[in-house]
Amino acid sequence: MVGSFLNVVIYRLPRNESVITPRSKCPQCSSMVKWYQNIPIISFLILKGKCANCDFKIPWRYPLTELTVALFSLLLMPVDLSPQALFNYAFFFSVACVFLAHLLIDLEHQLLPDKLNIYLLLVSIPYVVLHFPLMHWLLGALIGFFGPYGVTALFYKLRGVVGLGGGDIKLFGILGFILGPLGIINNIFMSCMIGSIIGVILIALKKLDRNAPFAFGPFIILAATLQIFFPDIVELINPLYIK
Ligand SMILES: [Zn+2]
Repeated sequence: MVGSFLNVVIYRLPRNESVITPRSKCPQCSSMVKWYQNIPIISFLILKGKCANCDFKIPWRYPLTELTVALFSLLLMPVDLSPQALFNYAFFFSVACVFLAHLLIDLEHQLLPDKLNIYLLLVSIPYVVLHFPLMHWLLGALIGFFGPYGVTALFYKLRGVVGLGGGDIKLFGILGFILGPLGIINNIFMSCMIGSIIGVILIALKKLDRNAPFAFGPFIILAATLQIFFPDIVELINPLYIK
């Protein structure tokens, strides 16, 4: 169900539409999706991936997102029903969902919506403030926001081109709040490194014009996913990791 709601978020947020109303419609024949045609994954299978009313093909992204979110929930499942375990689950599950929505929206629209960033910040505040000292999150947020902001402003002054989008800078700031000063420095270096390598490959393969903008959010999210969910792996594969 969360995955199904996330599909609505991913479709409507970049189009500036409300995620609450109106109810879902088929984009081709505008027929209302009835509740029993809206059961995550199951309805997609019963409807054989098509609108019940016309021949519109429901994109594979919809059941895949639902399945992925179900998998997140399973992997992050609380070990018991203590308030501590439920609290941790709520935090990590929210982060995973926001990352997935950010990733899919940024790839399609080159946009990291403010509303998702605000939600990420709000769910992070109680977890981070309870788990880390003041200097961790304060310094992390300052470096995460003003570091990339300063570089982008300088780049704009020198070249007259916007390097990083506002959404990227805000996401760096929030991740700094979560990851702390060293964590966010690692994130900035890792995401820039992965982004440059992939960018150069895409330009060499003529899949991307060197002057065309491309989404940077996915690289920030990839690096942050490794740091938050797979900290052992990231230390193992990144020799420059600062501890
Ligand atoms: Zn239809």
